[in-house]
Amino acid sequence: MLKLIRNGLVYSPDKLGKKDILIAEEKIVKIGENLSISGLEVSEFDFDGKIVTPGFIDQHVHITGGGGQAGYSSMVPEVQMSELIACGTTTVVGMLGTDGFVKELTTLYAKCKALDMDGITAYMHTSYYGLPEKTILSSVANDLIFIDKVIGCKLAISDDRSSFPSEIEILRLINQVRLGGFTSNKTGILHVHVGALESGIEVLLEIARKYPTLIQHISPTHVIRTKALFEQAIRFAKLGGMIDVSTGGTQYDEPYKCVLEAINQGISVDSMTFSSDGRGGVKRTDPKTGEVTYRPAPLHRNFSETVRLVKEGGLPLEEAIRLITSSPAKNLKINNKGFIREGFDADFCVMDQDLNLTEVFSRGTLMMEGQQVIRKGKYETSM
Ligand SMILES: [Zn+2]
Repeated sequence: MLKLIRNGLVYSPDKLGKKDILIAEEKIVKIGENLSISGLEVSEFDFDGKIVTPGFIDQHVHITGGGGQAGYSSMVPEVQMSELIACGTTTVVGMLGTDGFVKELTTLYAKCKALDMDGITAYMHTSYYGLPEKTILSSVANDLIFIDKVIGCKLAISDDRSSFPSEIEILRLINQVRLGGFTSNKTGILHVHVGALESGIEVLLEIARKYPTLIQHISPTHVIRTKALFEQAIRFAKLGGMIDVSTGGTQYDEPYKCVLEAINQGISVDSMTFSSDGRGGVKRTDPKTGEVTYRPAPLHRNFSETVRLVKEGGLPLEEAIRLITSSPAKNLKINNKGFIREGFDADFCVMDQDLNLTEVFSRGTLMMEGQQVIRKGKYETSM
């Protein structure tokens, strides 16, 4: 059946004004004013007074649960679809971390397919934190070429838990994602976890300076871990790269403030993304009692930091929202997501004027209504 979203104030992310959006199956087929459909059954949603944006993209989530860093029982359980929908996330990229020994890429692939079947869109990076790389098929390039869900490869640098990859080892992985990418029309990126060691992304800056065409295949994340790393990240963005600001995990300052600082230094929101690092394991030590507790890293902070950019930072919504819509789509080279455009997937977030998320559509299906998630994964009935 056709669906018609009426009277929403549409941010595509550009501010388009009050528009109607016609949806057929999973796609946006028409955007216009006072659209009328005759002779066909249409279900209508009136969002007068509300804001409609593209569905959010979270490009770094441990969808099968992060590995434990305090023994087997500290391994994090996998994410449930409703948890992503509750945050407005309609597209997610899953990956392994340090857990490449106890969590399998095949399980990660199956989880992507499961999320897809339940109604949201999921992709994955092959390999994990370390070297030698782990793959499903015989190489990173083959994973990109022959596995629909694989859009890139994961690697960690400048972390005392990493494999301390050398420049040539990083270049060889970039070569693999590049060959695998252009063969499968995915482009292919190397998603690089950056740890707290002083070297930061110096090696990536070096590669970008020597081989400028490779920068579009390099995607450093966790770049606000330290101030020195963030300054390197700004240099990387000035060379034409995309930088990913984690809204969870270690931060030298609040994520929205770092984005404002980068903007002050001339970096466009089109070169920056937010991602949650959700479902990684977070260890907390109570400062008073010394009690140690574990919890999964939260998934909701991409949107809450975006709201703070608007409310506390004074950034227009059409700018702030890019960090979780058009910019990750650009970084991942997903060409049917991240924008409200005819022919694109019908993924939307709807919010009130105070920027509270009220409705979510994923590939044309209403998943959240009146702030309640109404579509859940198969084993979530008790929630
Ligand atoms: Zn992570």
